[in-house]
Amino acid sequence: MKVAVVGAGFTGLSSALYLARKNHRVVVFEKEKTIGGLVQGYKEKNWLWAIEKHYHHWFTNDNFALNLIKDLGLEEDLLIPSPLTSIFYHHQISAFNSPFDVLAFPHLSFLERLKCGVVLAYLKILPSFLAVKLERFTAYDWLNRYFGRNTFRILWQPLLDGKFGPYASLVNMAWFWARIKKRTPRLAYLKGGYHRLLEAVVSEIKKSGGQINLGKSIDKNIIKEYDKVIFTGPSSIFQKIFPGLPSDYRQRLSGIPHLHALNLLLITQEKILAKEYWLNINDRRFPFLGIITHTNFIDKKYYAGMHLTWIANYLPPDHPYLNKSKDELFAIYKPYLQKINPHFNFQRLTTNDYQLFLGPFAQPVFFTNYSKIKPEFNTPINNVYLANMDMVYPWDRGTNYAIELGYKVAEYILNTAGV
Ligand SMILES: Cc1cc2nc3c(=O)[nH]c(=O)nc-3n(C[C@H](O)[C@H](O)[C@H](O)COP(=O)(O)OP(=O)(O)OC[C@H]3O[C@@H](n4cnc5c(N)ncnc54)[C@H](O)[C@@H]3O)c2cc1C
Repeated sequence: MKVAVVGAGFTGLSSALYLARKNHRVVVFEKEKTIGGLVQGYKEKNWLWAIEKHYHHWFTNDNFALNLIKDLGLEEDLLIPSPLTSIFYHHQISAFNSPFDVLAFPHLSFLERLKCGVVLAYLKILPSFLAVKLERFTAYDWLNRYFGRNTFRILWQPLLDGKFGPYASLVNMAWFWARIKKRTPRLAYLKGGYHRLLEAVVSEIKKSGGQINLGKSIDKNIIKEYDKVIFTGPSSIFQKIFPGLPSDYRQRLSGIPHLHALNLLLITQEKILAKEYWLNINDRRFPFLGIITHTNFIDKKYYAGMHLTWIANYLPPDHPYLNKSKDELFAIYKPYLQKINPHFNFQRLTTNDYQLFLGPFAQPVFFTNYSKIKPEFNTPINNVYLANMDMVYPWDRGTNYAIELGYKVAEYILNTAGV
């Protein structure tokens, strides 16, 4: 079978790998000049490794990703540290890694902390077949009810508001459950970064006879040249390429809003955060939602001794920050960064000390009862299949699930074609 895969992110590359290994003729088309999609790398000349443009790690239960790493003979090079997660609230950074940290969290009463520990433990042990039923509730309602109003206001509402902005109160509880369920204290990273894994996948695809075309957008005529087409980009682009889609199908796809990721990477000689890898900003007066310090997770020696810190945001497509230059954005963030670390001299940083990265359509919004509107692989166009992160649910979209999705769509095509 001759298959075109559109998109060289993890979904596209894993579906191409699956099909190429089964001796199908696979051609991958990627509109950008580099592979990786949302996991594209950034590297300065004197760095040993590239870093992802947006912060990335695996959980130790991300079995599709870890098995792929093993399959490609890279498992010896996995790093599995236990970096710190904390919360910034009321001018104070508090650790939030373990049940002990929950019980010691200073901004809740003892009873609230106890209740918080019990509800978190309940969510952690709740099996998925029961948890999917939580999609009937909004996370706002459920969390308010079971954690209590104050805990919701201090711990969870700022996270939901920060990530989903105008859609925060509509996100369903099954998605939130999956975030808690999935977390592992240790996180994984591959020596050489995610780019190394992507390169290994590409090399395996080529070895199995597949082809990768970079800098190549496709149009609807592609259907004529291939037996099957798998589209792995955002649904909005899919609709532009195939304008004749029936209106009910278009409505279904357009009914899923997306946030863009906007991350400012600070490259500094001194540390901005002493030890935290992940710092949630639980104060919505701040113009960003988190600070993630890659080099409190992975040794700075791979990046010429520089400290790498992202100032993270998810924004709706009409947000004014999306039109700001990196200097304008840094100027907005600077006074708030200063509040978090008053001793760091942010005035000294110049335009070469930071880079701005946009991840388009990076986070779908999962409303209540999402499973009923989740798109399927089949589309109204014969032999054209859609496989993108709108289908990764209730788990939070991630490369692990992109790999699973790629395998699944490939398997689906082979099964339905009777090959
Ligand atoms: C801020 C942020 C943090 C994240 N953190 C993590 C993390 O810690 N761990 C983790 O595992 N995952 C994380 N993720 C999620 C992860 O990056 C994604 O789930 C995954 O990369 C999605 O892969 P994909 O192939 O489905 O989509 P994409 O990576 O979006 O790939 C789609 C590809 O299709 C291409 N394309 C689109 N239209 C066309 C066209 N017309 N012609 C040709 N090509 C086209 C695009 O250029 C792109 O390369 C994070 C994402 C973001 C934004």
